[in-house]
Amino acid sequence: MSKRSFIVAGNWKMYKSIEEALQWSSRFLADYRAAVHVQVPVFPPFTALFPLHGAFRGPGLSLGAQNLHSDLQGAYTGEISGPMIREAGADWVLIGHSERRQYQQEQEALLAEKIRTALDCGLRPVYCVGESLAEREEGSHLDKVQQQLLQGIPPLSPAEWGRLVLAYEPVWAIGTGRTATVEDASAMHRHIREVLVKTHPSISFGELPILYGGSVKPENAGELFDHPEINGVLVGGASLDAGSFLAIVEEAQRRR
Ligand code: PEP
Repeated sequence: MSKRSFIVAGNWKMYKSIEEALQWSSRFLADYRAAVHVQVPVFPPFTALFPLHGAFRGPGLSLGAQNLHSDLQGAYTGEISGPMIREAGADWVLIGHSERRQYQQEQEALLAEKIRTALDCGLRPVYCVGESLAEREEGSHLDKVQQQLLQGIPPLSPAEWGRLVLAYEPVWAIGTGRTATVEDASAMHRHIREVLVKTHPSISFGELPILYGGSVKPENAGELFDHPEINGVLVGGASLDAGSFLAIVEEAQRRR
């Protein structure tokens, strides 16, 4: 049987002061034991990135930012650049999270620029895609995700494809307590791979990690990891509690 590896990512959204972030890190580290096949990037708010950079350290552990600007610098009040988050300790960056699509009106053309900038800055982009409840109910979910892939990912070299991570996050499952079934999630992950293979025939997508996100908890993480199409999870709410997040990490560590 081929060896599997997983990414278990925690998105804290706009939660946790610096002090709370450091407390979370101490609690997590007290019981964390690394396993080579599980990477654990955590995405705190910008203000906690640098303090955590000194504290949240160990094999398999890393930090990411929840957003970046598409330019490297400029007169953009309130924005933050790739080099700035890199300097603060980020190795990863979320791009196209549904909350940014919804509340900041971010669309594919901009997201493609952000992916380009992230890669140029040495960051690993986690590009989030997913349909709304209405799109799922009317049966346009496959087309919607295809459009997000084709319009939101810029032209990439084979090496850059090797650094991209995708996260399928159905909007109706984020923060709602309603998880997609393993069948729904794995069918979409298969669709994502098929779309990419069809549109980029010269690239090998066997190693492309596709994460699932949407109300992942310790209770449902195991069955998601058991499915070969699912290469990890992006966890929002349950990542805020160090114990719950660690329990999800340990579910991945138990699988190979
Ligand atoms: C998320 O924020 O990416 C997410 C999946 O949130 P939750 O786990 O709370 O649904």
